Amino acid sequence: MSLEVPSSSLARCAVHPEMPAAGTCSRCGGFVCTDCLKVMPGLAGRVFCSACAARPEVNYLEAFRLEFWGRRDRWAWTVGLVSLGLLALGLVSALDQRAPTALRLLFTFLTPVPVGVAFFLGRSWARHALVATPVATPVVMAVLLEPSSREEVALMMVCAVPALIIAVVIHSDVRNQLFFRRPVTPGQLKALWNVRRNNPLARHALSFGLSGVLLPVFAPLAVLCGAVALRRVDPEAHPPIGRGGQALAGLILGIASLLLWGFVLLSFLYRFLSGVVIHK
Ligand SMILES: [Zn+2]
Ligand SMILES: [Zn+2]
Repeated sequence: MSLEVPSSSLARCAVHPEMPAAGTCSRCGGFVCTDCLKVMPGLAGRVFCSACAARPEVNYLEAFRLEFWGRRDRWAWTVGLVSLGLLALGLVSALDQRAPTALRLLFTFLTPVPVGVAFFLGRSWARHALVATPVATPVVMAVLLEPSSREEVALMMVCAVPALIIAVVIHSDVRNQLFFRRPVTPGQLKALWNVRRNNPLARHALSFGLSGVLLPVFAPLAVLCGAVALRRVDPEAHPPIGRGGQALAGLILGIASLLLWGFVLLSFLYRFLSGVVIHK
């Protein structure tokens, strides 16, 4: 008996009718060719079509992206609060100064406020304006209102440089880009997911383990976190749970610190007690 089927009657890819099907999608049941066939990490043994592979219930990175899409991050709240603070500071300091100084103070403190408010509200132009503000504010102020002293110019520069560095950091922050609904690459998304969701207890175990070398109180925490995190590791899960190396390193460091500090304590006790005995 032959199992050969005429090629014209073979199943075809739902997207590419010219291609023979290589399998069926586990979610929608559609035929997929080798080009369309997707295998998802943590969902071994199941294949998906391209459309289903992009869905949040299948693709954990997509679910992760949607969770933060358009939602304010720490930076948005920080910029919002700083703007509020500048507004208050500008008004208060301007009230008890004479006219020219008051104007200067108002100008310096209030120039960044509209940008900060727009940033908090998620206006896309404000992302770029935030980087320009620390540079533009002192320049515009120097041109429009002659600074009264060198100290004033120095103060502006001192404030502008860290503000510029922070603004550049915010501009390139992936989580902040999700707030502004900007497309991010799968690699960037994976890196953010890795930091936020991939077995964070293992990271804590490692930092407790490192701290435990100097401060023994952290050593039991490192052992506890390391053991729990190590048990959680499962590369086959959906989404996969990794960081086994960090969990193990934290566990080993914790145990080593406990042994080390235990030894130190015991030898100290031994010396103390033998000292007491000799004294008697
Ligand atoms: Zn499908
Ligand atoms: Zn196809």
